[in-house]
Amino acid sequence: MAETITKPGTPTGTASVKVGGSTTLTTTGATSSLGHALEYRWTWGDGTTSTWLSAAEGLVEAHTYSTSAIRSATVQARCAAHPTILSAASDALAVAVYNDEVAAVAKVAETVGLARTTEAVAA
Ligand SMILES: [Zn+2]
Repeated sequence: MAETITKPGTPTGTASVKVGGSTTLTTTGATSSLGHALEYRWTWGDGTTSTWLSAAEGLVEAHTYSTSAIRSATVQARCAAHPTILSAASDALAVAVYNDEVAAVAKVAETVGLARTTEAVAA
């Protein structure tokens, strides 16, 4: 009987992270139809992937994003004994990676808004 591997659980974790900061994501994992041990690989949505990690290490993984954007993080499983047997990629978790400039623009808008409010009150 051919081995199949279920799709790993959708990643959960910190879905908003500052550029240069670390986010840690978790998956509930996958299952081999033959009960074999699995390995996991994370795709972070910024062009990078983790190495294949044992179940002991791979169900929780940290990553640092270096540019601001909305990234789609997924995780995939494979059989540790039969590495060509792969699962489908998990559903994605959208991770918002922001930087100080975005925060600064928001602050300026807030300040302008307050200034206008004050003006209106004064008039
Ligand atoms: Zn196997």
